[in-house]
Amino acid sequence: MSIHQNLNHIKSQLPKHVALVAVTKTKPISDIMEAYNAGQRVFGENKIQEMVEKYAQLPKEIEWHMIGHVQRNKVKYMASFVSLIHGVDNFKLLKEINKQAQKHNRRINCLMQIKIASEESKFGMTQNEASSILQSEAFSELKHIKIIGVMGMATFTNNKAQIKEEFQLLKLTFDELKTISTNNCELKTISMGMSDYYHLAIDCGSTMIRVGSSIFGERNY
Ligand SMILES: *Cc1c(COP(=O)(O)O)cnc(C)c1O
Repeated sequence: MSIHQNLNHIKSQLPKHVALVAVTKTKPISDIMEAYNAGQRVFGENKIQEMVEKYAQLPKEIEWHMIGHVQRNKVKYMASFVSLIHGVDNFKLLKEINKQAQKHNRRINCLMQIKIASEESKFGMTQNEASSILQSEAFSELKHIKIIGVMGMATFTNNKAQIKEEFQLLKLTFDELKTISTNNCELKTISMGMSDYYHLAIDCGSTMIRVGSSIFGERNY
């Protein structure tokens, strides 16, 4: 099947409240243009350098999402154009995003990455860590960012029951954190679900899925 057909197939199954981020990491410009010409406008990359290079070459109507782990010293390269940063997992990073957004006179939307996987290697905060950041005085001073939701990555496993538990944990965390509402925090997005389990993620409350290989084919690293 072509990229166009894969996209149509996935989109035809999505409820209206679920957004699709087409994940293009490692994929060439021509693949992204094929998805663009099929109507897709939201794309996700996991490396800042790669996203910046692709941004420069592609139509400016594209909304770029940074879905990978973010190094603080690289925020400046994407601050002028990134539309959503999914992987915010500490306060220092939020401060840097705020600082760089201010330089460009804009406000950058972010998601708090919550650790739901059992794997040590996965990033993210606990609910308590996120909650204390969102309620802190220091956070309320960051006028150039807005926290609009949470993001999580399930364990890399075929154990569907475990993945379901992890998705449910993210939904529960979202429901708790949602009670916090400030000038720069209004939670409405749950970013969870990739190619293999996005149906399950949607059943568990996902409002934003991040799909790569089911659209563009397997990646060769
Ligand atoms: C690569 C990646 C995806 C997409 O994975 P697929 O299995 O190809 O759909 C989603 N989220 C993040 C954070 C990723 O790095």
